[in-house]
Amino acid sequence: MRTIIEPFRIKMTEEIRLVPREQREKALQEAHYNVFLLDAELCPIDLLTDSGTGAMSAKQWAALMLGDESYAGSKSWKKFENAVRTITGFKHILPTHQGRAAEGILAQTQIREGDVIPNNSHFDTTRANFEFVGATALDLVCDEGMQPGLDAPFKGNMDIDKLRTCIETHGRERIPFCMITVTNNTGGGQPISMQNIREVKAVLKEYGIPLVIDACRFAENAYFIREREHGYGDKSLLEIAQEMFSYADAATMSAKKDGLANIGGFLACHDDGWGEAFRNALIMREGFPTYGGLAGRDLEVIAVGLMEALEYDYQVYRHATITYLGKKFEERNIPFVKPVGGHALFIDAKEFLPHIPPLHYPGIGLVNALYVDGGIRGVELGSVMFGKKDDQGVEKPARLELVRLAFPRRVYTQSHFDYIVEVIDDVLLHRDQIPGYRITRQPQYLRHFTCHFEPMK
Ligand SMILES: *Cc1c(COP(=O)(O)O)cnc(C)c1O
Repeated sequence: MRTIIEPFRIKMTEEIRLVPREQREKALQEAHYNVFLLDAELCPIDLLTDSGTGAMSAKQWAALMLGDESYAGSKSWKKFENAVRTITGFKHILPTHQGRAAEGILAQTQIREGDVIPNNSHFDTTRANFEFVGATALDLVCDEGMQPGLDAPFKGNMDIDKLRTCIETHGRERIPFCMITVTNNTGGGQPISMQNIREVKAVLKEYGIPLVIDACRFAENAYFIREREHGYGDKSLLEIAQEMFSYADAATMSAKKDGLANIGGFLACHDDGWGEAFRNALIMREGFPTYGGLAGRDLEVIAVGLMEALEYDYQVYRHATITYLGKKFEERNIPFVKPVGGHALFIDAKEFLPHIPPLHYPGIGLVNALYVDGGIRGVELGSVMFGKKDDQGVEKPARLELVRLAFPRRVYTQSHFDYIVEVIDDVLLHRDQIPGYRITRQPQYLRHFTCHFEPMK
């Protein structure tokens, strides 16, 4: 087979600059060894996140100029609503400034203190929003999803037995809804099969519990279903997405992912009662229901982007780029979550740096080494992001210590990927000298964004 080429050519460029290593060392120290606190211009290969970092297409830039900034009932809103309804079929559609705003409104309106919210795996902002209103956020991903080295097609699936046990244990009245996150970001960007979504829905239906889809990467998930699940090989990604949403009662979305936009999101549902409650909260927190937290031009860009994310050639190319890096890592025996995820490659930092115990944060050690060695900015998904204090206030490590290299959409080319491999090769040479870290300052919620570290001697 010939090389899969980018299904686009570049007509605008943005300069990146490799600064000297000493400058990166100094910058990292000044950022208290937390790459979230670095200046972006000092991060030439910025794989911190795929969220809002993608390149827009010419069609999106053109649409942006059509933005209708009327306060109520704008033309841009109608295009946005039409695109979201075509894909999801939901009756009530509410634009938000990003995904967490949708989560916040869902939490504020539907959760009571003491509730339990099951999910395959909660994303960090989802968990924080639910815990903030007094709920317990449970991760019920299947066993396969907990084995980083195991290659299986749908490691994001929810464990149906665990879901049933969860409902029986806590009681239906404590579970206002159940969530499924497609793809499973915190569990390695792994997809969820249509069959699993159907099975989850069937269990929930028995108890009358609504299903909410965290739809951030719905198009990537649709691509995986087409490639890996029997019976979907000749369906369009739009048809697959429509079927996924047909099982849901509501959805939260960050358009910064598969909306191919730099900002935006939405909350959507069928139920009129939920729709009314969402709208009231939206008006108070985000804005009037036909723009939410967005400008008219943002609505235009998202309407186009949602459909572009469902273009098959685009998804083939996107997956090929991440698979390319995965092959190179495999050749070097670098431990990573297999198979590669839809938006990112997740290195197993516990295995990569076995000399650093979990509570000395091997993920931070690796993230910082990648930055100093090559100006690559990744992110820890391990005990800093997910570690918890028990009742005695003793910190418990997370289940996995991962470093995520997330790939902005349509941004980096193959030579950038080859460069990443060269940096990893250099890190491999001195990995036993990479230090662990201790936290010197942290906030109460979402500490990974702003906490300070110090290298261990
Ligand atoms: C990014 C993300 C969110 C939150 O969206 P924001 O736009 O960053 O607020 C929620 N869930 C998942 C799975 C995500 O990846």
